[in-house]
Amino acid sequence: MKFYDTHAHVNSPEYGDEYEKVIARAESEGVWFNNIGTNKADSSENVLIAREHGEGVYATVGLHPGFVSGSDADGRREEFDYDFFAGLAREEKVVGIGECGLDYYRIPAGMNLEDVRQKQVEVFKKHIELANASGKVLIVHCRASKDTEDAYTEALKILKNGAAKKILVHSFTASPCVCEEFLALGAHIAFNGIITFDKTGNSAKAVALCPEDKFVLETDAPYLAPVPHRGKRNEPVFVKHVAEKIAEIRGATLAEIADQTFENAKKLFLANS
Ligand SMILES: [Zn+2]
Repeated sequence: MKFYDTHAHVNSPEYGDEYEKVIARAESEGVWFNNIGTNKADSSENVLIAREHGEGVYATVGLHPGFVSGSDADGRREEFDYDFFAGLAREEKVVGIGECGLDYYRIPAGMNLEDVRQKQVEVFKKHIELANASGKVLIVHCRASKDTEDAYTEALKILKNGAAKKILVHSFTASPCVCEEFLALGAHIAFNGIITFDKTGNSAKAVALCPEDKFVLETDAPYLAPVPHRGKRNEPVFVKHVAEKIAEIRGATLAEIADQTFENAKKLFLANS
């Protein structure tokens, strides 16, 4: 059985110098993955790692909204450098632009939601432009303010107006009705370990309503490890637990979900290469 983890960060500092082992385990278990960029430094590294490995190891390049507004834990901030990312995007094994989008969950000290919103919306639109110019998939990250869906509804509004040609909504956790709106735009939806411990029931409903050619798997490793590894460091080989849960929700076999999502991801990311 082969799996395609469409969203992992294998060179994250969480792995220290073990990241080659993480990649080796994925390769030996038939797990393909996209190594997702969040800033200039890791995007460049992702390109090098993809070059050093064979089929099944791909890269994306972009600026995570947390770095746009300085919302991550240590408050690091970066300006979006279009030409820099456009240069990386010319690499053959770069399959996507992002992760990019809107993250309204953490508001850094000295800013309010409106400041964060303005900065992130502007940079998100530049990613859309780059995704369309390069023909790569737009990897959308949305995290709403507590108890709302604000980041999702705003992303939908932007995408309706300046539609990107290929869209993947990563780590989908919003309501089934938001899921339907993204699907209506032609987007693909990625589910991760959250569906194995989601108590709201939203994820299961979204999983159930996706047409079979519109959803893919991801881990978001090293974060969001699925049950039975919950709370531990995640890695691409754990993607099979996400597939198991989807199989259970959709009344399918694990092999069917593995094959279907592998084909969906290959078609989405690798169709032109
Ligand atoms: Zn991520």
